[in-house]
Amino acid sequence: MGLKHSLKLGLRKSWSKIVFHTGLHRVIDALMPRRLTILAGHCVHAPSSSGLPPDMTIQAAKLQAILAWLARRYDVVTVGVGVERLEQAGKRSLVALSMDDGYKDNRTHLLPLLKSVGVSATIYLETKPLDARVPNWSHKFFAILDRMGPADFVLRFTEISTDTRSNILMNQLVSHGEVTSYHVKRMLKYEVPAVERSRAIDVMFAECELDERELTERLYMTWDDARALRDAGIELGGHTVNHEILSRLDAAGARAEIEGSRLAITRELGAAPESFAYPFGRAWDWNDETVRVARESGWKSAVTTNAGTNQRGGDVLRLKRIMIDEHADLAEIVTHVCGGFDVWRRVGVDLA
Ligand SMILES: [Zn+2]
Repeated sequence: MGLKHSLKLGLRKSWSKIVFHTGLHRVIDALMPRRLTILAGHCVHAPSSSGLPPDMTIQAAKLQAILAWLARRYDVVTVGVGVERLEQAGKRSLVALSMDDGYKDNRTHLLPLLKSVGVSATIYLETKPLDARVPNWSHKFFAILDRMGPADFVLRFTEISTDTRSNILMNQLVSHGEVTSYHVKRMLKYEVPAVERSRAIDVMFAECELDERELTERLYMTWDDARALRDAGIELGGHTVNHEILSRLDAAGARAEIEGSRLAITRELGAAPESFAYPFGRAWDWNDETVRVARESGWKSAVTTNAGTNQRGGDVLRLKRIMIDEHADLAEIVTHVCGGFDVWRRVGVDLA
């Protein structure tokens, strides 16, 4: 970790502690413009989400404490409602919880938790696993990593894959000692051509005698689960069909992904969804073309994973979010939500 990065982390922690523990968050909240803060996660820690990396899960008790705290001071709503209300007059700022992909625990563990706090949420569905009961490559990758370390993964993957360039890059990871599952996943995501990635992972998945159907059933919700969530007042949004990086697709490919999830949800839930999430969501994972297609496809809002809060009059197809996972810290979240990091942004300092 670079010195600049650790300095930023240290400052962020210290500032959050001050804001949270001194009650300064109340003052900042009153002074800053009304805002919509969208929290973003994937899974509540549950047997169905075992084997997922810690940046994809959050302990139920921790999430419950965060939501209960926020619900006392803010209006906790769905993204769809939040986007609408932000443009209307109102005093309290808004918070929305969003969960990406459509995991099983969202029904079995998240829903009871939301009910206990008395709030709703938005779940963005990747529709292929619900339709065809097959997982995407990243979950096959995690399942393989349950059987072997990342270094062994790279060793076998580069034996199978014929893409010389990415094989060299992967082997460099090993020789530099940076072979964590995070680094390998990043490389698979951005450096290995999609077709070759799928082919090599499928070979390894079969070699490990893993079962695609079993993995999908454990991990992902079904359309019946989605309907039960809808009936309980949860908003279901779209997150493409195959969870591809949209900026890497041509216009027709991006359109098929963005419209495809909207059509599937409309077909299964009987009403057109309004809220969309770009897969991966970082600034380089989507582009102006993606945003244009999302608008033309009829989505009323779209979220990214760029960190920050959203204000009235902002671009509803480029909404910012705050990621939450096992390392989530209530003081830091409250500092985001009250506008405590926006204060610093106004003077050109980005602590978030
Ligand atoms: Zn996703």
